[in-house]
Amino acid sequence: MQGNVRRDTKPELRLRRTLHGVGLRYVVDSAPVPELRWRADLVFRGPRVAVFVDGCFWHGCPEHGTRPATNATYWQAKIGRNRKRDQEQTSALTAAGWLVIRVWEHEPTGDAAARIEAVVRDRGPGLARSQA
Ligand SMILES: [Zn+2]
Repeated sequence: MQGNVRRDTKPELRLRRTLHGVGLRYVVDSAPVPELRWRADLVFRGPRVAVFVDGCFWHGCPEHGTRPATNATYWQAKIGRNRKRDQEQTSALTAAGWLVIRVWEHEPTGDAAARIEAVVRDRGPGLARSQA
């Protein structure tokens, strides 16, 4: 495990493919609000929906967030910090008028995609309509 980078993970790629397949268009790995430095995994600029795909390990998933036995204190602190940052991201973006969707990497792609699609279409036109 090297660092906290998890771009283009398999669950995320599957999700992107599924959403693209239903005609949704989005930007990948982009900051919804430039002044806030955080980048979301998927950004729907029109309807202002930001999607984060959270890795079970790094984000302390209640089902799969097992902590390694070695350096338990270290990992606990690190994952704790990640979770705190996740909450900060969500509240800051929400305050800026964005809707934040957090998806666990273990979630079935179809379920996550349906959840996202419903919200994006519900939030209105913008860029949600397919241009392809
Ligand atoms: Zn999980």
